Amino acid sequence: MRGVVFDGKQVRVVDDLEVRAPGAGEVLVGIAAAGLCHSDLSVVDGTIPFPVPVVLGHEGAGVVEAVGPGVTHVAPGDHVALSTLANCGACPDCDRGRPTMCRKAIGMPGQPFSRDGRPLYQFASNSSFAERTVVKAVQAVKIPEDIPLTSAALMGCGVLTGVGAVLNRAKVGRGETVVVIGTGGIGLNVLQGARIAGALTIVAVDTNPEKETVARQFGASHFLTSTDGVREILPTGADHVFECVGHTGLVRTAIDLLDRHGQAILLGMTAPKAEAGFLPAAMFLDKSILGCRYGSSRPQRDIPLYAELYRSGRLLLDELVTTTYPVEEFARAVEDAEAGKVARGVLTF
Ligand SMILES: [Zn+2]
Ligand SMILES: [Zn+2]
Repeated sequence: MRGVVFDGKQVRVVDDLEVRAPGAGEVLVGIAAAGLCHSDLSVVDGTIPFPVPVVLGHEGAGVVEAVGPGVTHVAPGDHVALSTLANCGACPDCDRGRPTMCRKAIGMPGQPFSRDGRPLYQFASNSSFAERTVVKAVQAVKIPEDIPLTSAALMGCGVLTGVGAVLNRAKVGRGETVVVIGTGGIGLNVLQGARIAGALTIVAVDTNPEKETVARQFGASHFLTSTDGVREILPTGADHVFECVGHTGLVRTAIDLLDRHGQAILLGMTAPKAEAGFLPAAMFLDKSILGCRYGSSRPQRDIPLYAELYRSGRLLLDELVTTTYPVEEFARAVEDAEAGKVARGVLTF
């Protein structure tokens, strides 16, 4: 079968990939569509160290082809969106509803794939850039069949992370004020999460003025090309400021823009050793700085919720997909992504 493989030097689309049958508690999924996210490219450029050879891809949707012993929540033929969260389901963190904190969800990556008898690693417990992949049962979330799989493919990373950060982590309330710094894949989902939560003023900030139209489409009430203008719109600051760029200077800016009792939510990935400064004295006014992993999501609850919000027109998915590419055109999808031509490119099988 076909798949996108990174061998440590180059990325190639191969057609001689094999995947093992699902074991106990596992599901074999035929991937229909998979989103190309920046994290896949970070594996290739070394920003995210990962053992090789590896089959890339970490957000996708498709159809269940087979289930292993003990799997009852999905059956062959079901449409599913895949999460990257291979949590155990049995530890204290899972039990208290925090699967993103499960310590067993990050560990030794599996090797369900092979080529010529040699094993290949699975990226993010997922590897959606393959015609078929094997995931844990908790990762396969059933979705209604009327949702296009090219759109559902984006749920497993950008939507869970961005909308989840608003609803689950920040818990933005009706009438509150929100600033979103950076309107890439995550930032757009933060914008629509804020709109769904009922935020009153939603200020999008992006240095690229061409982002204004899409930012407003997703929920921004105001658009700025610099954070300098935020205080004119929100003189006392914002209740929630989301940093979606991963720049230490903008982390400081996010904190400086907080109103009393405000919170800065850090979603952008900074370098592991990068430091950011802030004024501790200003935090005295009940301010908070929040980290957030994977939208603090509970995928088996959140993905069906997002599916219903999509069906009722409140969650935008189709608008996130700029271009679809047959998997053979992976290189062109990467070129377009790197040139900033697409909000999200989606590979199809
Ligand atoms: Zn991603
Ligand atoms: Zn667990």
